[in-house]
Amino acid sequence: MLKIRCVALLVLCNVSTCYAQSDPSGKDWLMHGRSYDDHRFSPLREINDQNVATLGLAWSHELDTTRGLEATPLVKNGILYFTGAWSVVYAYDAKSGKLRWKFDPKVSRENAYFYCCDVVNRGVALFAGKVFAGTLDGHLVALNENTGVPEWTVNTVENNNRAYSITSAPRIARGNVVIGNAGSEYGVRGYVSAYDAETGKLSWRFYTVPGNPANGFESKAMEEAAKTWHGDWWTFGGGGTPWEGMTYDPDLDLLYFGTGNPTAWYRELRGGGNSLYTSCILAVHAKNGELAWYFQTTPGDNWDYDATQPFVQADLTINGQLRKTIMQANKNGFFYVLDRQTGEFITGSAFVDGINWAKGLDEKGRPIENPGVTELKARLISPGPFGGHNWTPMAFGDSTGLVYVSAKSGTFFLHAPGSEVKYDPDRWNHGLISYEGPLSDQLMAAPPVRGELLAWDPVAEKAAWHAPSPVAETGGVLATAGNLVFQGRGDGIFVAYRATDGRQLWSFDAGTGIIAAPVTYSVDDEQYVTVLAGWGGASGLISFHGYGPVKPGYGRVLTFKLNSHARFAPPVYKHESPPAKFTTDASPELIKKGGTIYGGNCSVCHGVDAIGGPVADLRYLSRAKLDHLEDIVLRGALSKAGMPSFSKILKAEDVDAIRAYLISRSRELAAQK
Ligand code: CA
Repeated sequence: MLKIRCVALLVLCNVSTCYAQSDPSGKDWLMHGRSYDDHRFSPLREINDQNVATLGLAWSHELDTTRGLEATPLVKNGILYFTGAWSVVYAYDAKSGKLRWKFDPKVSRENAYFYCCDVVNRGVALFAGKVFAGTLDGHLVALNENTGVPEWTVNTVENNNRAYSITSAPRIARGNVVIGNAGSEYGVRGYVSAYDAETGKLSWRFYTVPGNPANGFESKAMEEAAKTWHGDWWTFGGGGTPWEGMTYDPDLDLLYFGTGNPTAWYRELRGGGNSLYTSCILAVHAKNGELAWYFQTTPGDNWDYDATQPFVQADLTINGQLRKTIMQANKNGFFYVLDRQTGEFITGSAFVDGINWAKGLDEKGRPIENPGVTELKARLISPGPFGGHNWTPMAFGDSTGLVYVSAKSGTFFLHAPGSEVKYDPDRWNHGLISYEGPLSDQLMAAPPVRGELLAWDPVAEKAAWHAPSPVAETGGVLATAGNLVFQGRGDGIFVAYRATDGRQLWSFDAGTGIIAAPVTYSVDDEQYVTVLAGWGGASGLISFHGYGPVKPGYGRVLTFKLNSHARFAPPVYKHESPPAKFTTDASPELIKKGGTIYGGNCSVCHGVDAIGGPVADLRYLSRAKLDHLEDIVLRGALSKAGMPSFSKILKAEDVDAIRAYLISRSRELAAQK
């Protein structure tokens, strides 16, 4: 049995104390997950499983970027509000596709190497006539919803010399705009901040990890957390950045969020311990930010198992008892059902195959680790770096009781920890070192990753159906009362499935990979579906082996309605020049050295083995650029385009080695063609 919580809240109170609204009619899509419970389920049924075959393009617009687009658009009174690459905010007329306004916060491209996982943003919040957005450089802006003109801006970052960033959508809770941050790979101290929506004044801040004990602890929660850390963790910041999943229950007045990995990644490099409150689900009181409860999904995380995946709240009858639950398909491969009043573990089970770091969960939900998995030695761990599921939003079918998740089975991570890690503010401080050996060959020989849309029954703790994808990465999910589930894929195909059994009923080639979640709404009594297509994000940049034939390209917004046939002729995505057999006298040793330097500094954006995606594939670099590589890498010649100077990290001799490596990779590609 399923009880649907009423989310129709009226705005009757003073603006500084009241709540945002969801729209029970489904006409508007006013908050990130449509309603407070983040079901991403629309009651609209004009587009349904009987007629979706006639769905067609109403309009599309190019967004002038090749970087990842991850935002969920919001819709109010026929206006679409969303964010694109570099934290640019857009407002479009949803019916005509006409641009109303655009706001560019002009984020400095100089710090792009502090943005671990592409220059993405996952959307805006709407409240009190304003549009709120976080920016890559850690600011929170409040824009007038009619004009896009800023009404206030705050710098949410306490120390701008550390690698903080924001990629998540703000959420509204109790008249506050709540925002987290990212940066645990580099080493920062995570926190969630709540700002008064009217004034931008800080209402409260909740740190997710303790600071330097010599400065005193901000709260009892920090004092308790400090007992689970060792050594001088605060010099690394600690991590635990709350960089995505966040949801609010206005009845309980609790705000829930997940935290990222500790810094460094490896437990033994941190001296052991649980490292609270990293890789953890927390509930805080929205009125003051005080801790209500926590549930650490991966205690003493060793594998970058951020607990930042989006949540769904639902009231479910489990073992004959009606439970107020909060659910998460965690990066670590387990699907958790918790009591959202108390944090009590109700159930948890593997939702992907091949988990090898733990054999299961105990009765309290603590993982039962396999022996030796945290030793400081290289091993292949599954799930891999992007998890069984990562940041893509899930949906909950109010009519089916199923949770729809973009899931991946068979991912691996070659974990090769060093023996120590020293904090360096300009680098990742995870403790991973480069590795060459038999595990690399095993990784390359592993079967392709199996991506899918998974329909998970959270009461029965098993899959109801699977819709396999030809590529590992699939996008966020929308469910509707028309018995439909919409989802895009990394190969650019946007699909509608029948919600009850996963049968594919419709598809559209958007021309570039889709990772964002679609939304639906109605204008003048006509139902529309909108999605952003733009390949990128962490896995898009890195282009992992075994992730399938993904499609980089130019990003766009696409809107669909029934019986519509708008012309669609997107620009063709091309490389800078064909790969060439450039002559070279570089020694094999120099090429090898260049490959190591490339792997440690360039591959996160330009791809493993220089196989690029959304950011330039450097195997196609022109001779002119190769000749001027020092200007580009050390003197910031292309910094305005997002390629920062690496002068703090690399030297001229390093650039010579990288050049030799890239020429070698270009020659290898040319020989294949
Ligand atoms: Ca992480």
